[in-house]
Amino acid sequence: MAESIIQVKDLSVIYNEGQSNEVRALENITTEIFPQEYVIIHGPSGCGKSTLLYTIAGLQIPTHGEVVVNGKDIAQMKNGELVEFHRSGEGIIFQAFYLISSLNIIDNVCLPQIFQGENLKKRKEKGMLLLQRFGIAEQAYKFPSQLSGGQKQRVAIARALVNNPQIILADEPVGNLGSKSAQNFLGLIKELNEIDKKTIIMVTHNGEHLYYADRVINMRDGRIVNEEVNKEKRPVEAVKLAREIIEESGNWINVTDDFKMLMKMFKGLNPQQVGALLIPFKAKQLLFHVLSELSEEQASSAENFLKELLFKNIDLATFEKNLDLPFEEGGANWNKRRSKSLALRIKSILDQVQQIGGNPDEAAVSLAEYLIKYFGLNFSEKGKLIFVSLLELRLENKTDYNGLRKILDAPPEAGGMGLYKNTAERIVREIEVIMLLKYSV
Ligand code: ADP
Repeated sequence: MAESIIQVKDLSVIYNEGQSNEVRALENITTEIFPQEYVIIHGPSGCGKSTLLYTIAGLQIPTHGEVVVNGKDIAQMKNGELVEFHRSGEGIIFQAFYLISSLNIIDNVCLPQIFQGENLKKRKEKGMLLLQRFGIAEQAYKFPSQLSGGQKQRVAIARALVNNPQIILADEPVGNLGSKSAQNFLGLIKELNEIDKKTIIMVTHNGEHLYYADRVINMRDGRIVNEEVNKEKRPVEAVKLAREIIEESGNWINVTDDFKMLMKMFKGLNPQQVGALLIPFKAKQLLFHVLSELSEEQASSAENFLKELLFKNIDLATFEKNLDLPFEEGGANWNKRRSKSLALRIKSILDQVQQIGGNPDEAAVSLAEYLIKYFGLNFSEKGKLIFVSLLELRLENKTDYNGLRKILDAPPEAGGMGLYKNTAERIVREIEVIMLLKYSV
């Protein structure tokens, strides 16, 4: 018998807990979703459907209980796992489309692939195939405001699919569509389930849609009142869907290409403006790079402070102080020692970012000195010179992340620097983060 891919166990979500405006949105919800099922969550407005969906999506933190997807408790996922989960574990379609109005359609579809590591051309090809599939290829270079609601929702479905997630979540996806567009759209979702074998979880308050689903979970006042099975899909024959959400490493961002893509996407913006657009990614990347072993809440509030720091809304001293403050006082609930050590680490990276702004020779020398010191590298004089020239190649984008990593790792007799694999990996990551931050900081 196939195992379920999502287990919701005794889940409660309480908004504003302990305050006068407390809302118990979900109370002790337990259910399972099986591979390739099409499940509809149904109930009147305000009964907690969206809260349940967003908790399954990892966008809402449970107050009690847990949500396990593909064998992993979302709340326990490490930062990198969570990012990967958001990126390609589940695709989400919202009622309000959430298309970026300043991006054309193809770029909107390709957006989730940023930092996916594939080149721009391949990404666009993938995006175009999806637009063709949904009959909107002709709209590729138009902007969202030029499309009808039905067309926009097809763009949203293409975007949800672009990283090929196993699970598609949809929150009242036809709520804003006329009845004909709604029927068409629901047909497409059904096709994703039957042909593409995607697991679908859709929220609706509209009873007319229920027959599309294999199973309907009826909710009221934050609880499941019953489940109706239209088509039994639970014991799917030996479907091995507990696939790894995270592909082993090799999944690091490709700074230069992504920056170029953003420049293209956001025509009319200068590099500084595009750099600013990247700040949320920078904050995340920088944080993941320097940390591990934090609770999700500690990490996400630290990430917010880091964003503030990169936007220059706060200085380093405030950043350090905020990390240390308890949650109740609006801080990230770290301790003094840890806050200080992160602030110092960030400072040394940001200092280095300043250093590499100028001419590539000097930048490479300064970067080499920094890396030698930070990683305690033991090079001969000749080794140092080679290291500097390799860094210069990377800074000028004449080699990429992988190219540099391979040379650092390769033994000297094969023309490499003979570093341990692990050290080579950490060095190139450090460089990529510094290069990423260089744009605009
Ligand atoms: P549904 O999707 O069934 O309409 P929701 O999950 O959106 O229901 O909301 C469930 C309950 O939680 C409602 O009473 C709603 O007002 C409340 N609620 C939803 N989001 C929040 C929030 N961010 N803060 C406080 N209350 C919320």
